[in-house]
Amino acid sequence: MDERDLVIIGGGAAGYPAASRASHLGGKVMVVEKDNLGGICVNWGCIPMLFLLHQVGLVRAIKQAKEDGIHVGKVDIDFGAMKTAKDAFVKTMSERIKGNLTASNIKMISGCGKLASPDRVEIELGDGTRQTVHAKKVILAPGSVPKKLSVKGSDGQRVLTMKETLGLNFVPKSAVIIGGGVIGVEIATLWANLGCRTTVVEIMPRLIPNEDLDLSLAMAQAFREEGIQVYTGTEVRGIEDVEGGKSITVAGEGGNHKLEAQVVLFAMGQSPLVEGLGLEDVGVALNQGAIQTNERMETTVPGIYAAGDATGVIMLANVGMAQGMVAAQNAMGGNETMDYRVVPRTIRTFPEIGAVGITEQEAKERGLDIKVGKYPLKGNAKASVMKDRKGFVKIIADAKSEEIMGLHILGPQATELIHEALMIMQMRATVRDVANALHGHPCLHEAIHRAAQGMGL
Ligand SMILES: Cc1cc2nc3c(=O)[nH]c(=O)nc-3n(C[C@H](O)[C@H](O)[C@H](O)COP(=O)(O)OP(=O)(O)OC[C@H]3O[C@@H](n4cnc5c(N)ncnc54)[C@H](O)[C@@H]3O)c2cc1C
Repeated sequence: MDERDLVIIGGGAAGYPAASRASHLGGKVMVVEKDNLGGICVNWGCIPMLFLLHQVGLVRAIKQAKEDGIHVGKVDIDFGAMKTAKDAFVKTMSERIKGNLTASNIKMISGCGKLASPDRVEIELGDGTRQTVHAKKVILAPGSVPKKLSVKGSDGQRVLTMKETLGLNFVPKSAVIIGGGVIGVEIATLWANLGCRTTVVEIMPRLIPNEDLDLSLAMAQAFREEGIQVYTGTEVRGIEDVEGGKSITVAGEGGNHKLEAQVVLFAMGQSPLVEGLGLEDVGVALNQGAIQTNERMETTVPGIYAAGDATGVIMLANVGMAQGMVAAQNAMGGNETMDYRVVPRTIRTFPEIGAVGITEQEAKERGLDIKVGKYPLKGNAKASVMKDRKGFVKIIADAKSEEIMGLHILGPQATELIHEALMIMQMRATVRDVANALHGHPCLHEAIHRAAQGMGL
């Protein structure tokens, strides 16, 4: 029987960094992956979305260039070619991971892994045969699966999840997207910019309901301007086939009505994948449908760790990577803990969103004494040059200590700018620290500086 210091089930955003870390610490490591290395993030999540949204961003820039006297003629979008380029890029990324793991002497097995006991992993290979590995330690990093509503018609044809959506080789003529969270607004942005008549249905009273209210309102306004229809506070009741597509019955403020579209997409987020891993058999406990872990990423069974979406803590690739590293270090004898205090959130829409820390609404719900500062991008020279002046920077700070507790950005390159905010919060900087830090000119970052200066402290 193969003997390993560490066996990792799942080679996604949490699994492969964990494998590299453990190997660099001297461990004899194996990764079991049933699909493509890189998981959701590389194959049908962050990376392909970023790639396609970058491409439509280029189209927007080319169209806008006309205002600056740059004429490039008619812009033709060849979606087939875009998709081919995206697929090739994804393949390269997945192969790069394979190359890095190989270079680190990590054994990769293509198959489906499950716990046979706390120190044995059983792997079902592609040909149906089984192999058992002895593992001193195990990290469970199986990821998550798309959520779907269980309404009538939700399993029909042309009712998609993101997994199928990013593999489509055409742009739908029209689409109803169920879910106005991060994934829903990103795919709505992509499709609308590719000429699809796009509608977003969100059960909560606002788009991106976990973000600051000002961001939600600005996003709804931007969507209206882009021609994306938005139904908030609206529930999907059923989906039926009609000629040429689907009829979706929704219930909102005005009662029931029907929307029609060529395709329907469930973009309601992900559920931790906990099935088929032998968790119950070895006593790995679940908490609200996710693998229960402590801050050392230990499960309830000694020697078995978990990381990534399956832990249900914060379903982001950056969090999964950090959890995987903590789990790997501890599996190799370390004593690391996860710290979720400062986690950036990024949304690639036009305009982009970057956020970190608490929202104004959360602060009020928690009865915190806060000060709020806001600076509109209208006053920023670079945003004006870029003709992208609709956004703002919003700072939430503790009224007494001046420590910045939340920073929210809407505007061009907000997903990059947010990393200044990340360091501000990581270092527990105050509004005064930010106001006193000279920023370059003319830069988008100045908006953060000006928002802090404007807080009158
Ligand atoms: C459309 C979309 C866009 C996203 N965009 C972003 C973004 O921009 N930024 C961000 O931070 N996050 C984003 N996310 C979230 C991010 O993709 C996930 O948080 C991240 O991929 C989780 O990593 P993971 O390793 O836990 O799971 P995964 O990446 O899903 O990897 C798990 C791997 O385990 C394998 N596996 C499962 N069970 C077994 C088994 N029994 N045996 C062997 N292998 C198994 C799976 O095949 C998979 O490859 C996005 C998600 C989606 C759906």
